[in-house]
Order: sequence, then C-alpha cells, then structure tokens
Amino acid sequence: LKLPLFLLAGALAGIVTYLALRRWRSLNGRLEQALRNQEFLPYYQPLIDSRSGRCVGAEVLMRWQPPGGALIPPDRFIPQLEENGQIAAATTLLMRQVAADLAGLSLPPDFHLSINISPCQLTDPALAADCRLLQDAVAANQGQIVLELTERVALESTGVTQETLQRLRDQGVKIAIDDFGTGHSSLAYLTELKVDYLKIDRRFVSTIRDDVPSAVLDAIIALGRQLNLVTVAEGVENERQLAYLRTRRVSLLQGYLYARPMDYPAFGRYLADHTEQPAQSEPAFSYH
Ligand code: C2E
Ligand code: MG
Ligand code: MG
Ligand code: MG
Repeated sequence: LKLPLFLLAGALAGIVTYLALRRWRSLNGRLEQALRNQEFLPYYQPLIDSRSGRCVGAEVLMRWQPPGGALIPPDRFIPQLEENGQIAAATTLLMRQVAADLAGLSLPPDFHLSINISPCQLTDPALAADCRLLQDAVAANQGQIVLELTERVALESTGVTQETLQRLRDQGVKIAIDDFGTGHSSLAYLTELKVDYLKIDRRFVSTIRDDVPSAVLDAIIALGRQLNLVTVAEGVENERQLAYLRTRRVSLLQGYLYARPMDYPAFGRYLADHTEQPAQSEPAFSYH
C-alpha cells in the first residue's frame, strides 16, 4: 500500500510543479509582450509637506494595463520582472513616460519626484542616464529626484552598490530607504550606504493610537533626525495619525488621507487644485 501512495504523492508534486512552471512561463510571455507594447504606466501619489499641508512631490508607482483588461497592481508582476531580468527595461520605459508627463504638468517649486528601484537595477548601466532625464525634467523647478530602495539593498550590497549610489548622489540624485523597519538587515548599513530620506513603513503608522506614544515609531523618527535624514511617513489614512506625525515633525506625509495613487490626467488636475493655495482642510499650524 505504501508504494502506490508514494507514487501518487510524487505524481501530484510533479503536476503541481508543472502547473506552477506553466503559469510562470505564461506570465513571462505576457510580460515580454507588455514590455514590447509599453503596457506599463506610471501612477502618481502626492507627497505632502506636513507643515504647510501642500503637495510638494509625488511617488511614481508602476501599474500594468493590459489592453482591454483590468489594471494590475505591482505586487502581482514586479517580483517576476525582477526574477526574469526585465525590471530594468520596464523601469527605463516608465522613467521616459514620467519625463514626458512632467513636461505637461505645472509643478510647484522644489518638487520631490520619488521612484522605486529594485536592488538588482543598481548594476544597470542605463540607470544614471535615466535619472539624468528625470533630473532635467524637474530642473526648472529646482526639483529633486529620489530613488527609493528597500532594506533589501543592504542585504545585497557590495562594493559596486556603494559606488553606484555614490555616483548617483554625486550626480545630484537623492536616495531613500523605503519601508524602513520591515527588512531583515542590520542598521549597520545606514553608516555604509549614504542615504537622504527615511520612509517609515505604513505598518508603524497604522499602529498609532490617540495620544499613546508608539515607542518604535518614535525611535525611528528620532533615528532619522539624528542622521539628518528627511523623514517620510507612508500610509497616513486618518486625522489621528496625521496629528501624531505632525507633533513629531515628520517632514513628508503620504497616504489615502490625502490621495490615492492616480493616473497622469488625474494627477494634473490634483496639482492644479492643490498647489496654488493651501489645502482647504488644513488648519493654520506652526511648530515654532
Ligand atoms: P511602496 O514603494 O512602499 O509604495 C507604497 C505603497 O503603499 C503603494 O502600493 C501605495 O499605493 C500604497 N499606499 C499609499 N498610501 C496608502 C495608504 O494610506 N494606505 C494603504 N493601505 N496603502 C497605501 P502599490 O502602488 O500597490 O505598490 C506596492 C509596491 O510595489 C511598492 O511599495 C513598491 O515596493 C513596488 N513598486 C511599485 N512601483 C514600482 C516600480 O516602478 N519599481 C519597483 N522596483 N517597485 C515598484
Ligand atoms: Mg516606495
Ligand atoms: Mg514604501
Ligand atoms: Mg511600504
């Protein structure tokens, strides 16, 4: 009896592997086609200055729009683009589209444009030129280009990574650590890799309760300040979180409370409504 069961289990495992492989291959095929047809597009989510309540930047978030199909979020295809080596090509297309979009927008001064980069892209020779393209697009507004890297970059960091980051910084590109506090890396990298922005993961923001100090969140904010980094809170969803982050003087805020990521036309309308005058719901507030 044991032998047939064993064979059956083996056959089942084989079928599961085969199906997974087939799915992987079929998604790969669709991604290749998506690259050829330029089906990846940028969405923009506003970054808000916590003091003035004004939009002072945006994070670019990739979406996949297959013809006639529903919009696909990045979690469903970025990991595979990383695995099959196409993430650099997809990002290049994305950055070119962003540069074209920016030319049609009236940006506020000192606009921060953030874009996500996978660790493997730091060895991509095209990255510096793509960044230059975006830098030129915001140069008239004294804008900044910020590359968002997760703590994974520290795990995979080599001498090459550090050199690349240094070269990008020499070129004027800023570096952010994204999803801070959720990776498996040690804090030692903060002294090895020079960064400019610390993006506090939304999991810490979501734990904010009225007036109850959140020790880990407060420690992260203090760390950012000690290291002279611009602190950014992601996932700000309600007034309670906003009030908490403001009293702790986190510099930039991002979240559904302000706006969801949106396509280019919607972002154009958003900017027109939100950069000339202070946002309506913001009470006058001073830290000094
Ligand atoms: P991320 O860089 O941490 O981006 C923030 C994510 O949080 C976005 O999800 C955004 O829509 C979501 N978010 C923003 N505000 C709120 C909020 O108030 N509440 C909640 N619940 N969520 C909020 P999205 O767009 O699905 O992106 C997921 C991740 O995919 C990104 O996380 C980033 O790691 C990755 N990603 C997106 N675009 C790119 C890209 O062009 N290249 C690479 N390498 N990765 C990308
Ligand atoms: Mg990000
Ligand atoms: Mg993030
Ligand atoms: Mg995150």
